Amino acid sequence: MKAAVWYGKEDLRITDIPEPNVAKDQVKIRVRWCGICGSDVHEYREGPLIIPQKPHPLTGKSAPIILGHEFSGDAVEVGPHVKRIRVGDRVTINCLIYCGSCVYCRDGEYNMCLRLATVGLAWDGAFAEYVVVPEYTVLKIPDQVTYEMASFAEPLAVAVRAVKRSRLKVGDTAVVIGAGPIGLLVLQAAKAAGAGQVFAIEPIKGRRELAKQLGANEVFDPGQGDVGKEIAERTDGLRANVAFECVGHQSAFDTAVRVTGRRAMIVMVGMALKPLEVPFFRLWGHEKEITTCTGYVDEYPAALAFLADRRVLVEPMITARIRLEDLIEKGLKEMIQNPGRYVKILVTPGG
Ligand SMILES: [Zn+2]
Ligand SMILES: [Zn+2]
Repeated sequence: MKAAVWYGKEDLRITDIPEPNVAKDQVKIRVRWCGICGSDVHEYREGPLIIPQKPHPLTGKSAPIILGHEFSGDAVEVGPHVKRIRVGDRVTINCLIYCGSCVYCRDGEYNMCLRLATVGLAWDGAFAEYVVVPEYTVLKIPDQVTYEMASFAEPLAVAVRAVKRSRLKVGDTAVVIGAGPIGLLVLQAAKAAGAGQVFAIEPIKGRRELAKQLGANEVFDPGQGDVGKEIAERTDGLRANVAFECVGHQSAFDTAVRVTGRRAMIVMVGMALKPLEVPFFRLWGHEKEITTCTGYVDEYPAALAFLADRRVLVEPMITARIRLEDLIEKGLKEMIQNPGRYVKILVTPGG
């Protein structure tokens, strides 16, 4: 089968490899669509970041490894111990592979598993014709959800978790900083969770327009004027209850501090690879909190429900559909060279 195999930094090879075999408790999935994630771009350009450099303690995997984790497809083969999934089911997966026996797994906090692995990073992923995964990761796609929509279940689960971690209450004002794929999903998840006003702050014009289209009450360009003041004017001077920092950058974090009010929550959704400076004195006086969120635990059913009844729209976020053979030239390299042109690129192995 065709697959995109990561060998090292800037060494991703689209090659022919043998189809994977199904173990007793595993499901083989024929991939329909797989989205390119920001983390795929990072691994391609500057990896390994999450890809294990020595055999992973749980999966035994390290490079070369197949990338791709935001996908949908059809179950085409199941192992003899598989009970819940049948051949022909339309499926997506929760990408966490966990040990099931550590203290966090025993409490159901799988994203904290001491031996956590992620499909597409420490287990062969879905930039391939077929992928094989444990049955417990597999979720059926509701009828109303297309394969394209279902390939957003993974990033939407991240967004739903971000909203949960924010402890957002019905009617709260929220600000989303960064209207990339995750920011646009957080925006919609916050609305679905009952946020009052949701504002988006984003430097790229096309993404601001998309944020508006997807439900932002107003959008702001961080390069134009004082966004803190703008938000204050729209909230009786109180500013936002919650800010979602979906960039992972000092300036975006500074904006989060400025746009939030007293007792506000700042959720660090973006992956800040460099240390950030935190104005503790300002946070202290206003009892602001900062929290983080990583991946998801049990947010997939909510994500699939939001897709099914269209509380969350993803089609407008699809800016290109490409074939697996073109993953490097028309996918990863394009996203690096023209970051403003794309929101989500979906990849199909075709056939
Ligand atoms: Zn992702
Ligand atoms: Zn565990």
